[in-house]
Amino acid sequence: MPMSAPLENYSQVNRAEGLQVFTFRCVSCSRYHPSRNDGNSVSNYAVRQSDGCFLCRPCSVVEEQRDLQGTSRAVGYISQDGKRVTTFIGGVLMIITESHLRRPPFGRRTTWADPKYYTFHATDVWGQRWVGQGCGPGVIAHFRRMK
Ligand SMILES: [Zn+2]
Repeated sequence: MPMSAPLENYSQVNRAEGLQVFTFRCVSCSRYHPSRNDGNSVSNYAVRQSDGCFLCRPCSVVEEQRDLQGTSRAVGYISQDGKRVTTFIGGVLMIITESHLRRPPFGRRTTWADPKYYTFHATDVWGQRWVGQGCGPGVIAHFRRMK
């Protein structure tokens, strides 16, 4: 569990064989949601970057989409098919309209298995245009909004 998670959002109801099943309260919709921690991963919630509060998956996607408005920089994950930019849990932020293979910036590491580097053009859920760069599907990419 993240140390910054508010305690009232964490009510453990079972512990067996390293599996924790608990409920958390989403700070956005105020509903309680089930989650589980198998020791390797915790499912079904997102933690808000700014304050560490728990959000349910639908609310976290709504917040990340909303945050695209009024900012000039954003990060997202390139979907496996290379067609979308998503949040960590797969909520769609942008549709990729073009991707171009390019030379990595000097000193920038690419992945060993697939040492490619791309420039992406994308349109977000609000119709704003972005340009980004990153190593490709499954990997985080950094975007800046086009004027
Ligand atoms: Zn919620």
